[in-house]
Amino acid sequence: MQVIKRDGKQEKFSIRKITTAAAKAYQACNITSTREIQKRLKAEFMELTEGVEVISVDEIHDLVENFLMKNNPDVAKAYIIHRDDHTKIKEFVKGKIDFINRYKKTKNTADATIDDNSNVGGKNIGILNAEIHKEDNINVSRGMVMQKLKELYPDFDPKHYMADLDSKIIYKHDESSFSGAIAPYCCSITMYPFLTDGIKKIGGLSAKPKNLDSFCGMYVNLIFATSAQFAGAVATSEFLLYFDYFARKEWGNDYYEKADVDITNGHSMRPMTIKKKIHQHFQQVIYSINQPAAARGLQSAFVNFSYFDKPFFEGMFGDFYFPDGTQPVWESLSWLQKDFMMWFNEERTKCMLTFPVESFAMVYKDGEFLDKDSAEFVAEEYSRGHSFFTYISDTVDSLSSCCRLKNKVQTKEFNFTNGNMGIQTGSKSVITLNLSRIVQDWARNFGETPKQLDETFVEYISEILGRVYKYHIAYNELLWDMYDSNLLPVYKAGFINLDKQYLTIGINGLNQAAEFLGIECNNNENYKQFCQFIFGTIKDLNTKNNGKYFGHTVTLNTECVPAESLAIKNYNWDKEDGYWVPEDTNLYASYIFKPNDKTISVLEKLVLHGKDYIGDYLDGGSASHINIDHHFSKEQYDKLLHFAAEVGCQYFTFNCVNSECEDCGYISKEPFDVCPKCGSSKVSNYDRIIGYLTKIKNWSAGRQIEQKTRVYSGSVE
Ligand SMILES: [Zn+2]
Repeated sequence: MQVIKRDGKQEKFSIRKITTAAAKAYQACNITSTREIQKRLKAEFMELTEGVEVISVDEIHDLVENFLMKNNPDVAKAYIIHRDDHTKIKEFVKGKIDFINRYKKTKNTADATIDDNSNVGGKNIGILNAEIHKEDNINVSRGMVMQKLKELYPDFDPKHYMADLDSKIIYKHDESSFSGAIAPYCCSITMYPFLTDGIKKIGGLSAKPKNLDSFCGMYVNLIFATSAQFAGAVATSEFLLYFDYFARKEWGNDYYEKADVDITNGHSMRPMTIKKKIHQHFQQVIYSINQPAAARGLQSAFVNFSYFDKPFFEGMFGDFYFPDGTQPVWESLSWLQKDFMMWFNEERTKCMLTFPVESFAMVYKDGEFLDKDSAEFVAEEYSRGHSFFTYISDTVDSLSSCCRLKNKVQTKEFNFTNGNMGIQTGSKSVITLNLSRIVQDWARNFGETPKQLDETFVEYISEILGRVYKYHIAYNELLWDMYDSNLLPVYKAGFINLDKQYLTIGINGLNQAAEFLGIECNNNENYKQFCQFIFGTIKDLNTKNNGKYFGHTVTLNTECVPAESLAIKNYNWDKEDGYWVPEDTNLYASYIFKPNDKTISVLEKLVLHGKDYIGDYLDGGSASHINIDHHFSKEQYDKLLHFAAEVGCQYFTFNCVNSECEDCGYISKEPFDVCPKCGSSKVSNYDRIIGYLTKIKNWSAGRQIEQKTRVYSGSVE
């Protein structure tokens, strides 16, 4: 008799396997299976299968089960459980092996993973090691949230969480990153504890830095140690502030005025100036932080830097004191910021470094930038092809510390333990609403599709958000459990504070929700009302639900999330489930305008991300990526900056595709098809997939298709 196994392969039947399996079931019930029983099983089995030539594994199991059931039901049960467990393990292993085989064949990691992120450049066993557990991580995360919900809200059915996730109206970000299932999302840390204690309190070896050399070396350790404990970005807004402090200690307060002074040691053969030495430090730090981090599935640490204009500097650090009692100095910091930016821009023609993602914060009031020198420099840097974000506000109230996220901060909040606590901000957990699906579900209540959102929508979304707040609060409590168990040393050491971070409501599918109602996503009154209504409704509900829950502070905000992989997932899920989706795109982009709309000018893009559409409603921010096909002049950028400030567009960048010749390595800040240096047509292009600049070839297939539909404007207007 031949046995057909589950994988379809055949093998010769062996009665021994059957009697051994039955004996194990008897053992599991602490009964010794007698020779007599074994004999009977053998006889019955042979009788029943007489004349049979081929039999399946499952048929064999059924016969054994029947036999045991007649003789000893308890043993039969044990047999069934064992059989079940065995099948589960087999299926689990098969699933993993299938994944490994898929991963081997795929073009890049983004296409193989269930949660893609083009921040992973390569494809190797180290990355596979992290990717293979992602699905299990998601299940563990969901199990933990549901358990917590049950504990916190006995009258609330925790199954709602699974139901809401399964119905695709909400999405919990980065459930897959941590095997421990629960981890904070992203943060902007104060580096002050680093100056007083080094990284000893977060598990490192080094004590506080004493000079510029040790500061730079240990800063890299700090980044790797902290980002290993976050699913998303880690911003160190103060990096250059502290760099400047140590540079002044090294060469005096006027070091920047003597940057070209020769500091070659009498015994050194290598000529050296202060500036050169500074650039060596930059090089060491920046190349190190762009190195894949093993603790993050070989993603690079997602690092953000902030630059400040003078009013921002005064607002953030006016009351700041270094541990030795001295204060930061604007003149040298301002020089250092500019020097770093110019160095970084230049370095990116040698190597396309992704990190840090940079944001320049400026104050614009009564029709002018208060710090004209900084504003002029920003325009000049853009014209040199530098790719960074600008944040404009009329007060020093917020910090854009992530590549997209705007967070309210309390400025000048200094103390001698934590330094500038105002810098501490970020998002602990992000749950994103699929607005297109939610609006379509709501519209089903009407005979014909409504033309605008109304009060019934407020009621509709309130119910959903009511549940989402519970999920966030449960997650917050799980984070506090981690904190109380000493598993979040970055927090315990004072770099960041759980109470200061936000629980974020993300938004995706905004354009499609509007289009479904028949509203065009360009500068028009209907769309304006639509955006204000949605953002306003969510902000209102957030505000009402802020407060203390289970002894911990809960502050909610709303953000147009970048949705690197979610944008494509939502589109596909909606299409599969019969919802209306547009045919002119393959994803739900994260802007107020449609990035594939040829009719929208650069100026309109700024207007659509300005006060009339976003206002103060989107308090978690949104980033406008102004795609352009070549760089503008300093004067043109200067006009655009003023225009952006006037229309209240707070956070944006100009984005031009960069190209790199694969043969000679030549890099240009503008796209080319044929290398102008060597004539090769083997070219790699770089673009912002969302917030950060990476090689397009590393993107998921869906994102690469979308990139081709992006409109890169050729003129300012
Ligand atoms: Zn070339």
